[in-house]
Amino acid sequence: MRRLVVDSKLENKICSFCGRPGSRRNRLAGGLGAMICFECLEWYYEDSRSSARVAKRTRPVWDEMTDTELLAKLPLIVKSAEQNQAFVIDWIGLIRARKISWAQIGSVLGVSRQAAWERFAAHHRGDDTPAKAGS
Ligand SMILES: [Zn+2]
Repeated sequence: MRRLVVDSKLENKICSFCGRPGSRRNRLAGGLGAMICFECLEWYYEDSRSSARVAKRTRPVWDEMTDTELLAKLPLIVKSAEQNQAFVIDWIGLIRARKISWAQIGSVLGVSRQAAWERFAAHHRGDDTPAKAGS
């Protein structure tokens, strides 16, 4: 199904930092596919304002995680990656709805128009081949 708008429903999103789903009670802020819940936003804001808190951390948090904790994070990371990929597809739909050419899309991605079309057109039914579409 062709989607012409970017999906902005909170219920379909997760916080890219903790993985909790968005809702009316767990509002999310975000941009360009990444989302953050207000709890994480507050935590990272406080973190950014406290050099003592930052100095206490000398290694990445995953260095101290158990194997179980590492595995538990994997589905959240995959969901976050899928969320970002869905945003890319929505964004391409937005671009194509404005009749911006596959050549222009390919140009900003550093690939040919054919490569851009092959990568994304299948997600947007009715989007003709770049040659037939003339762009
Ligand atoms: Zn969060």
